[in-house]
Amino acid sequence: VAAFDFIVVGAGSAGCVLAARLTEDPDVRVLLVEAGARDERQVLPVPALMARQFGSETDWAYSTEPEPELDGREVYWPRGKGLGGTFLMNGHVYVRGDRADFDAWAELGNEGWDYDSVLPYFRRSERRDGAPSPYHGQDGPLPVADLRDPNPLTNAFVEAAVDAGIPRLDDLNRPHLDGVGYLQVHQQRGVRRTTAHSHLRAAMSRPNLLVETDALATRILLDGTRATGVEYRRDGAVFRVHAHREVALCAGVINSPQLLLLSGVGPADELGALGVAVALDLPGVGRHLQDHAGVAVVAGINEPISLMAGETLGGIARYALLRKGPLTSNVTEAAAFVRTRPGLASPDLELAFSPIGMTPRRLFDGPTAWAKNRVRPLLRPERRTLVHGMIIAAVAATPASEGTVTLVSADPTEPPRIAPGYLTDDEGDDRRVLVEGIRLARRILGQSPLARYVDREVAPGDGAQRDDELVAFVRAHAQTAHHGAGTCRMGAGDDAVVDPVLRVRGIEGLRVADASVMPRIVSGHPNAATIMIAEKAADLLRSSRAGTW
Ligand SMILES: Cc1cc2nc3c(=O)[nH]c(=O)nc-3n(C[C@H](O)[C@H](O)[C@H](O)COP(=O)(O)OP(=O)(O)OC[C@H]3O[C@@H](n4cnc5c(N)ncnc54)[C@H](O)[C@@H]3O)c2cc1C
Repeated sequence: VAAFDFIVVGAGSAGCVLAARLTEDPDVRVLLVEAGARDERQVLPVPALMARQFGSETDWAYSTEPEPELDGREVYWPRGKGLGGTFLMNGHVYVRGDRADFDAWAELGNEGWDYDSVLPYFRRSERRDGAPSPYHGQDGPLPVADLRDPNPLTNAFVEAAVDAGIPRLDDLNRPHLDGVGYLQVHQQRGVRRTTAHSHLRAAMSRPNLLVETDALATRILLDGTRATGVEYRRDGAVFRVHAHREVALCAGVINSPQLLLLSGVGPADELGALGVAVALDLPGVGRHLQDHAGVAVVAGINEPISLMAGETLGGIARYALLRKGPLTSNVTEAAAFVRTRPGLASPDLELAFSPIGMTPRRLFDGPTAWAKNRVRPLLRPERRTLVHGMIIAAVAATPASEGTVTLVSADPTEPPRIAPGYLTDDEGDDRRVLVEGIRLARRILGQSPLARYVDREVAPGDGAQRDDELVAFVRAHAQTAHHGAGTCRMGAGDDAVVDPVLRVRGIEGLRVADASVMPRIVSGHPNAATIMIAEKAADLLRSSRAGTW
């Protein structure tokens, strides 16, 4: 039986950072266990093409349960598998959130997670060119860049939002989010970069790090209430590895709670019903799933200048020769963060702008249908679901709705049940925010810098004007913004899964360090905060000495 000091499960946004940081100490031996493949040749680093991972071997390709407030629709949930995890396929937008997000975490009993305390961890991982700023890091490994070639439609969106009364922000990573600006991205000279590149690759040459890929962790080994190691499967064989010091789960918002539940740590009644031996009754595991729901306002344009120009010979040549042009786009190029009512601590609405359009087919069938057909559009143009146009996605940035991740069976290869509960909050506030978002998006489309490009509104369309019509549109078309947090929530209360130093409550030697521990989802995009969590986790794990806890 192999033994290590630390075992990290999951090489995603967080796990790559944690494993790399821990192995900076040559005396510490670390095993990183990842279900996906080591080879990344199948992952294109061309920014605009990241969605090609959808439905591929690097996608867990989950689906939600029928969502009651979304007309009973099942929502496709892509999640990345491989070195880089979901960062492999994400929009690589870097926007941390508002100061109020982190201060609220601290107010919920999580000492050390207020904005001023976490800012150094954001800065530690970041390498941003340009003038020094108290808010940005310049010496970290992970590139944070401005878009190299914003689309003219994006420039027009920013101007139109300013004309609609939204303040212009030069930097969406200052403490306060209110305003409109260009999004920052994880790119280096026009090539996508993940924490697998920035943190893990360099660490992989260290003799004290072993990275096991194609290795599905199936449970945490427990001796009573102490975690002693991890069991995983590779090529049909079962391996058991031991951790002298600690096991850290970085398997993400779906799989970290799934692994706890498979190991008997979770709500006792649910586990008992599935025949899983209960190691610890911890009711919060898999609860409090939060995600950002979004709905698209789509407009056709009167000039062929959208990102569709990227997949032409000219677009390909520009990218190949100069690393410029539409293929350098991360698709969502700008955003406005707005408060929809007085009395809020921070913006509750994001309007995310993408200079590309969708056909009604994609809008109506959702991305699943497109993912299944992802290669064919090249051969069958009538199958195309992206077209010249533009999208302003209204996103509920501080959702009140919550859902769950639960086991379906004790079989670790069976996907868990995902029920995000979109727009199910009692007050209907999340739905209200989306409806107001549609109205504000229309106002922005009507301002002259953008209006001059608009051919017609494709969706919701002229037929949807009244509140009830817009609510019906939201129910029929809202989608995930692909975020997700909270299923191993950090906190002080009985439903918290980890304490403020990320230890699973009631289990020794086990921590969770990924998007699942967020006490409330950030109002920005969660990747930045996830990386921050992993940077901080590295300090927390390092400071626990062998044998003590
Ligand atoms: C399409 C899409 C676009 C997105 N765009 C953005 C964006 O632009 N900006 C942003 O901030 N956020 C974005 N996100 C969200 C962001 O990518 C995630 O919040 C972030 O990657 C979460 O990191 P994580 O470390 O918690 O989990 P992940 O990155 O998902 O990592 C989990 C890892 O664990 C592995 N794993 C899981 N189970 C097991 C197991 N049993 N055994 C072994 N390994 C296992 C997985 O294969 C994976 O590699 C997007 C997400 C998607 C899906």
